[in-house]
Amino acid sequence: MDLHFLGAADSVTGSRHLVTIGGQRILLDCGLFQGYKVLRERNWAPMAVDPRDIDAVVLSHAHLDHSGWLPGLVRQGYRGPIYASPATRDLAEVLLLDSAHLQEEDARRANRYHFSRHDKALPLYTRSDARRALAKIVALPPGKALALGRVSVTLTPVGHLLGACSVHLSDGQESLCFSGDVGRRGDLLMPPPEPAQHADVLLIESTYGNRLHPVVDAQAELGRIVRDTMGRGGTVLLPTFAVGRAQALLVLLQRLKAAGEIPDRVPIYLDSPMAIEATELYRRHRRLLALRPGEALRMADGVRLVTTGAQSQRLAQSRYPSVILSASGMATGGRVLLHLKSLAPDPRHQVVFAGFQVGGSRGAKLVGGATEIKIHGEMVPVRARISSLEGLSGHADAKELLEWARGLGRAPNRTFVVHGEAEAADALRTRIKDELGWAVQVPQHGERFTI
Ligand SMILES: [Zn+2]
Repeated sequence: MDLHFLGAADSVTGSRHLVTIGGQRILLDCGLFQGYKVLRERNWAPMAVDPRDIDAVVLSHAHLDHSGWLPGLVRQGYRGPIYASPATRDLAEVLLLDSAHLQEEDARRANRYHFSRHDKALPLYTRSDARRALAKIVALPPGKALALGRVSVTLTPVGHLLGACSVHLSDGQESLCFSGDVGRRGDLLMPPPEPAQHADVLLIESTYGNRLHPVVDAQAELGRIVRDTMGRGGTVLLPTFAVGRAQALLVLLQRLKAAGEIPDRVPIYLDSPMAIEATELYRRHRRLLALRPGEALRMADGVRLVTTGAQSQRLAQSRYPSVILSASGMATGGRVLLHLKSLAPDPRHQVVFAGFQVGGSRGAKLVGGATEIKIHGEMVPVRARISSLEGLSGHADAKELLEWARGLGRAPNRTFVVHGEAEAADALRTRIKDELGWAVQVPQHGERFTI
């Protein structure tokens, strides 16, 4: 077996691991690099291997840091199939088309305001590149083995996000398990991760490898924030990941209203066409969710869906107190920027980030206490309250990652800790070594191993 770490090997983004097993070259995930500029610039580099030499891509889940470079891969010549669970395929369609749209918009805006260092800014990829990539996705239901030559590929649900799975590869002699992103027990939307099959080699994520999630009642906390902000005559802005987090927040807001903990008349806006589409997909795949009966169908009841750009602009100018959910979740782009620009200068409002903020993103800067923030080339003062809502993470913490790893049964021969910032990856490595006694290491970006 040969392993080549092409991304998410010193960071949490750009998940791409090339595995050569049983004569097949299989790329596990094909993610976008996000966050710091030095990472984002990797999106523009040609891949270290010729995409034409890859036989198949297997996607763990639809998040862009795992799927967002598929259009780039196809643009650089990849011709093979892309395997993903049926729900991942549906979500990837929404996410990739939106990502391409944002790339096109950013290039257009950069050209209009000339704030690009390049003479003419080009999109990383276009919607037509995304469509070509999507056409290659073949649905592989979890638990069903797919034969790629001598190699059998199996997906196992791992919580985290609708459709998310761990990936197991075996050629009958050697085997590999890739965790993808591991979810949590007690997740609001997703059932607990299912244990993975034993494998000789394990790739395990480490997003929260150095921390334990606090026990927080996210519903009570959100209720308090909404009541306090309404009391100041302000608006609560929830920059939200359109897929997953937006639906969790909708469910919480519905539960708060049903319990009378926030007034029924508080208008709730869902200002993200992608989140609206994703909500529909969560309803369609509701059998995969951990919600109470009927809750999935009711999650958008009474919520004002903002579809057009003009409606979104009107909402950004409105001074009427409300709760606005808008993407993107790290305020790296999308409609949330309009709202942020309009709400950030006023201390009556509150901006609540709900989810991991990648270092270098606007979300991370704001949560870190930035007093001004650059939006569309303009510095905007930040006087609104900024907070982050804990307790909604879709990622296992260190203890839960170890628990999931234990589910493999006996020790893998080799374990590689991926998908974490240096400190988190190293902390998880240490715990796996000390508590499980496994041979474990953290690979570097671009590193290769023959096993
Ligand atoms: Zn993920």
